[in-house]
Amino acid sequence: MTRRTFVGRTAGAAAVSLLAIASNVPAQEAGSKTAPAAPATRAIAFLKATATGGHVRLSCFKSTPFFNATQKEKPDSVRLRIRRTDLPGFRFGQDYDEFFHGLRWQDARVIFEGPLTALNNRKFEFTDERVEPGQTYAYWVATDRGDPPTGPVAVKVRDPRVWWTWEEAQRRLDRLAAEFPGVVELRPVGQTVQGRPLRALIAGNRGHVLVMLGSVHAGEAGAELLIPAFEHVVRNRRALLDRVGLAVLPCVNADQRQRLALGHPPYLRTNANGVDLNRNFPADWETVNHMYGLITSDPEGMTYRGATPASEPETQAVMRLLEKLKPAAVVAFHHLASITGSSFLCSAAAAKNEPYLARCRPLNHAYRAALVPPDLEKKPVAVMAGCTSGSLPTWVFQRFGVPAFDAEGDGSPACQKATTDTATWEDLEQSQAAHQRAVAELLSALGENP
Ligand SMILES: [Zn+2]
Repeated sequence: MTRRTFVGRTAGAAAVSLLAIASNVPAQEAGSKTAPAAPATRAIAFLKATATGGHVRLSCFKSTPFFNATQKEKPDSVRLRIRRTDLPGFRFGQDYDEFFHGLRWQDARVIFEGPLTALNNRKFEFTDERVEPGQTYAYWVATDRGDPPTGPVAVKVRDPRVWWTWEEAQRRLDRLAAEFPGVVELRPVGQTVQGRPLRALIAGNRGHVLVMLGSVHAGEAGAELLIPAFEHVVRNRRALLDRVGLAVLPCVNADQRQRLALGHPPYLRTNANGVDLNRNFPADWETVNHMYGLITSDPEGMTYRGATPASEPETQAVMRLLEKLKPAAVVAFHHLASITGSSFLCSAAAAKNEPYLARCRPLNHAYRAALVPPDLEKKPVAVMAGCTSGSLPTWVFQRFGVPAFDAEGDGSPACQKATTDTATWEDLEQSQAAHQRAVAELLSALGENP
């Protein structure tokens, strides 16, 4: 039996009379062949599903006609029927919203039937605790008055240890700053479209700084690897910081990352304005790029560059941080979910710049050797000049002339699992330890080339 959370008062006697009324109406929703035409309006509106702390919270409201009708019936209770379909076939990175369009409530099973008392007279909440981490679900909600079910609303239950919420990342930033006063600086650099403050962790030499960024693309690696790596260096390898400082902006695309952490099933790339931040930097702006078969000038595409160069507040925040720090090198984490690997992409504009590539390769080798990917011996260095116009590495290359990379996945099992968002907590833990070593090695390598 699905455990349920009641909100507000419990059902009272009047609910029974409501039921009696309802029972006189053959419910089309219940599948009766002789059912009359469905009511014009669905009884339930604004259905939402959020995954937090390993369970799913559904919330919905009485539609206005339904709300008006039930004003006369006190106490304010109604029987709800909640249906759920499990969707093991949903594939992160390959399936998008369309995956859920054809789902039929008739194929879903009833997981709850009974009274829920409305919060604030209008809003219902229901908690489904019989869910599995990693699974994707679709829900429908109807009353017992013959209204067609509202739905589906889809949600993926992600392990909160693998996908940190915004609040979790903020707690960790604050804790590090509090634990290492005078060592760790927590610097505000701007805010997101939705107003989330963006803060960078900085420690060590300000004159020669490695800057690392996460989740420029919302569905890609960031805080879960970068904050532990920063903490490792400050806690265990602090002498490295005398020669090379470390600055970490762990989650650039924080608005959309939060949607994923709270259960939005498909991969998200752009920011809340629909702009690909890794195409929004003021570098070769006029060059339209067609990577992935998409078009960077098309506002409907997932790689849309934005209306103007650096139009987005997140882009501006990154530029502000880098203009202040004049970085020695920049690495932005990509790949998928919470894990990335040791393949580095630098700017395609540097493809024929051999002196620049010669500075890039040893940094990648240091990183790669520490991550120990399975193909290290075959391929000791993995640097490809592939970053497009408008990308962060291209902007850093043109603006500062220093090594700048997007860190992408490699052949490691953890990266393979992250591709389908099936990496577990154990996979992430191993990946955290590997990136801790690798960031320390990268600092060390940079320290040798002041
Ligand atoms: Zn990316």
